[in-house]
Amino acid sequence: MKRLYKYIFSITLMIGISLLLICFSSKNLSQKNESVTTISDSSFFFDTFVTITLYKDNANINYEELLANSFKLCAKYENIFSTTLSNSELYNLNQCDENVKLSKDFQYLLERSTDFEVLTKGAFNVKLGAICNLWNFKNSTIPNSQEINSCLNSVNSYDYILTDNTFSWVGDKNIKKPLIDLGGIAKGYIADKLKEYLTSQGVSYGIINLGGNVLLIGSKPDKSSYSIGIKYPFSDNDYIATVNLSDYSVVTSGIYERYFEKDNKLYHHLLNPTTGYPVENQLYSVTIIAKASTTADALSTAVFVLGMDEGLKLVNSLEDVYAVFVDSNEKITISDGLLIKNSSEISIN
Ligand code: AMP
Ligand code: MG
Repeated sequence: MKRLYKYIFSITLMIGISLLLICFSSKNLSQKNESVTTISDSSFFFDTFVTITLYKDNANINYEELLANSFKLCAKYENIFSTTLSNSELYNLNQCDENVKLSKDFQYLLERSTDFEVLTKGAFNVKLGAICNLWNFKNSTIPNSQEINSCLNSVNSYDYILTDNTFSWVGDKNIKKPLIDLGGIAKGYIADKLKEYLTSQGVSYGIINLGGNVLLIGSKPDKSSYSIGIKYPFSDNDYIATVNLSDYSVVTSGIYERYFEKDNKLYHHLLNPTTGYPVENQLYSVTIIAKASTTADALSTAVFVLGMDEGLKLVNSLEDVYAVFVDSNEKITISDGLLIKNSSEISIN
């Protein structure tokens, strides 16, 4: 009887040990082969969908909470930079005649806007707010030329100065003041702030996408790069090219983003600061690739305004900034430092 117990005991022990080994080895196997899962969420801000995708490679991070906090940040920045939200900091500044105290974010972005205005010899101009308002792309109305000229007169008669966190206009007091519009740069700045927050919380891999304004956090967890599509002009889902990279921002300014057609002519939202009319230069889009999304956003707008020749010269003179131009024949031109493989796959050389 004793021997029978001993026998059953040793069999049970063996089965137990084998099961334990199977458990361990299957756990190891699943760890080895498991690809890192992602978490993604979208919300509507700045008149567009903001989508944030994060790779969950770190078990100590609460990714759900980080996504929720990121959207709280979006709401905070919408309350600063929105042209339409009555009570945003920008809205209040545009209503105000007196000197206005600025938040740190607003002051910083205005300073950067001035840098880009200087760099692009005025192609980037945040004083075009009133002219932007005249171009109503929802109602397809061409503004009357006298109204455009009167706004241009304001733009040319005033400058803003920033001293001790205070904004003030200097210029001819008999002329109406211009309005500030940060639509050409704000999304880039917000993407940079989201990345700053997420990386400070330990996020190593992910994609921040503000309606096509893309900022990458690192590479993918397996160290491969991301493929970011450049839209086929006027199509919904087709790409004319893809750019393969990690940890850069990719931002496109295209005439197909906001436009209307009247009498066989297309009017779009990228404005020539000298005329107040949409730029006419045979370009469909300009994509800028840069480390910072603020840079990519401001330059995509400005380089479009500058056009192919001047724009290419400017981009080639800048370090670690690249451009992809798509012209009205759908021909692609790339700046120095980029490489096209397989006719439409672009990477940094
Ligand atoms: P984006 O889509 O980034 O190229 O920005 C286009 C938006 O920037 C427009 O909808 C306007 O709000 C604003 N904008 C248009 N033309 C200019 C310009 N020449 N300089 C700066 N901002 C501009
Ligand atoms: Mg822009």
